[in-house]
Amino acid sequence: MAYPHSHPRETRILSEHFGEIEATTLDGWIERGGYKAVEKALGSMSREQVIEVVKESGLRGRGGAGFPTGLKWSFMPKDDTLPHYLVCNADESEPGTFKDREIMRWTPHQLLEGCIIGSYAIGASHCYIYIRGEFVDVIPVVNQAVVDAYSRGYLGRDILGSGYSLELTVHLGAGAYIAGEETGMLNSLEGRRAEPRIKPPFPAAKGAFGMPTTVNNVESLAVVPHIVTNGGDWYRQWGTEKSSGTKLFSCCGHLQKPGTYEIAMDFNLKDLLYDLCGGPPEGREFKAVIPGGSSVPILAADELDAECSYEGLEAAGSMVGSGGLIAMDDSTNMVHAVRRMVEFYAHESCGQCTQCREGTYWAAKILRRIERGGGREEDIPLLLDISANMAGKTICVLSDSAAAPIVSSIQKFQDDYMALIAKGQHAAVGT
Ligand code: SF4
Repeated sequence: MAYPHSHPRETRILSEHFGEIEATTLDGWIERGGYKAVEKALGSMSREQVIEVVKESGLRGRGGAGFPTGLKWSFMPKDDTLPHYLVCNADESEPGTFKDREIMRWTPHQLLEGCIIGSYAIGASHCYIYIRGEFVDVIPVVNQAVVDAYSRGYLGRDILGSGYSLELTVHLGAGAYIAGEETGMLNSLEGRRAEPRIKPPFPAAKGAFGMPTTVNNVESLAVVPHIVTNGGDWYRQWGTEKSSGTKLFSCCGHLQKPGTYEIAMDFNLKDLLYDLCGGPPEGREFKAVIPGGSSVPILAADELDAECSYEGLEAAGSMVGSGGLIAMDDSTNMVHAVRRMVEFYAHESCGQCTQCREGTYWAAKILRRIERGGGREEDIPLLLDISANMAGKTICVLSDSAAAPIVSSIQKFQDDYMALIAKGQHAAVGT
């Protein structure tokens, strides 16, 4: 079965077997070359060599922060006797993002291979896959893959006779967006509220259960077997110096062909939108695009001629983020769109920081007021002032994430705000 809307201009490494139901099974995965990378890593490479090849590849974390994966692994202590943990962040809940779900749904063993190799590299004895509880159709697929991997000796004691042992637990989240923040996730894993921790200490020093821990995103781990098999230079043939390899973009909103697409990281955003996603609905034009999930700044229609690399999207005024692309056509009122996003963040704020707890609440309230016709011109500087107090002053970046669409929408789509404010004033005068 062809994966919906696959396109010849994609570079399909992670998504090569999306749409093939047999690839979800252990036998089907082995037939497609699966677990060769595990055999290679555990059978013929030292931990340092695994970390080195991932460093050489230039792979950067695909969850949003873009931190180099190999470097992150190298921060784990080397000569201690403490238990180490790998936590796979599968709590994908950034609005607009659904690419990790596709990896797990179609290629659960690809992820398990990454978990095994990553755990081996950091000397972990236990790996947790913290998966979003709402993924009701994906969780059984992952659970079955884990059972099958244990039954064939890819997990458990003395994996493939290598002397390396690894236990793996699938842990279900309970629906909090903030549990996707790495330290919030660790608290949740320990049975506490998913409240982000103040860093330092960073997880590599004191993570899950107080032990050295690495948290990696699903996409980051799933590509590791390919890098181990083919080498760092192979992965660097795609993308740019600072943004190597490919990236999955889950594309939704006002598009003719929404879906998950895998592109080389130097792919042009406009080509992604028009060639792969089919452009906006007929008779419409793009008004705005959020390229990396709702927490990154919004791009206007004249800013879309940009490279999808970390540096390319940054130069355009936004970020790669999680790769959750949300397209909005010219029927969209940006105040309405931003109000929906800010209400989401207000609901998901864990409440520890005043700037976030109060800022998201008040910003949402002001946006609702503008939308309902009670807005004032002073609301624009007031929203900017609230946003300035929300950004860069809190324990985690949820607060910054809520501020980003407010600021960028006021900078680029102030007409939408002013039109609603004027309409409200006009209606008030008329009554
Ligand atoms: Fe919680 Fe918001 Fe502070 Fe993050 S920024 S720790 S979500 S209150």
